[in-house]
Amino acid sequence: MGGYTEISRAELLDTAARAVRTGSGYWRAHCPFCEASEGLAQSKRNFTIRMSSGEYWCWKCAEKGRIQNVSEAMSWAVEEARAEEVETALLQGKYVESSFPAPEGFTLIGEGYGLTANRFSEAREYIIGRGVSLSTVADCEIGAVLSGKYRRSVVVPVLDRGRWRGYVCRRYDRKGYLYPRGMQRGSVMFNMDALTEDSDEPIMLVEGCFDALPHYPVAVACLGKPSAAHYEMLKKVRRPLAIVLDADAQREGWALAQMLQLDGVNASYVKLRPGSDPGDTDPEWLLEEVYRSFD
Ligand SMILES: [Zn+2]
Repeated sequence: MGGYTEISRAELLDTAARAVRTGSGYWRAHCPFCEASEGLAQSKRNFTIRMSSGEYWCWKCAEKGRIQNVSEAMSWAVEEARAEEVETALLQGKYVESSFPAPEGFTLIGEGYGLTANRFSEAREYIIGRGVSLSTVADCEIGAVLSGKYRRSVVVPVLDRGRWRGYVCRRYDRKGYLYPRGMQRGSVMFNMDALTEDSDEPIMLVEGCFDALPHYPVAVACLGKPSAAHYEMLKKVRRPLAIVLDADAQREGWALAQMLQLDGVNASYVKLRPGSDPGDTDPEWLLEEVYRSFD
């Protein structure tokens, strides 16, 4: 049994860095304790690390402990492992307490925050130009980052019961979206709290976060095409749900609504004008179409 062999933290971190991922949050490596006590390279990866916490144990020598601050050396792997554990738990229908760190320099730009600061005027103009109201900016806790990796970006947090589960960054001086590493886009949605709200009012499912924002709070975005995990979440929706995918994805949108109906959801499908997406569609017109789709 262990206890006679001292393995330094640096060696443990080195072991962690060489470990291979095996499943939900668990990584396996060759055991440094076994190698030190036997003087032999190990053929099996008996050393198991729970990457989100740094806890480790060996199936062979039974050595166990915790690599202190494993995140210092392995921050991205830790973020991924945490997100993976959360995703697995959510798929099993468990409630998970989790949060995702905001990007460095994140500043709220809604009313009463950075709204009056000149250095955020470009971010503010960008978001208003996308048809987003100032009250939505405040309600959705939208902010901006001026420098660093996500510089000159509007940042829209993806919230789950008020907690950050990731965010969407949109540069306001060029095209394209960025998502942070470790965010499980396939198992979160923008405005996902609206799905479980107790209401008879219809809600719409759109693709992108900026498709949903002009229609907030009646739109939820799956941040791309709907995934299998998204479908599991949508199956549980009890309020009327209108599928409003981009005009180039009409067949998928129609099929999704059909499947959800078979699963007992009051789902409908809304057809957009050719070449358009919900983000550039007039909110009043779209809401009318959503109501009409349930007739
Ligand atoms: Zn061992």
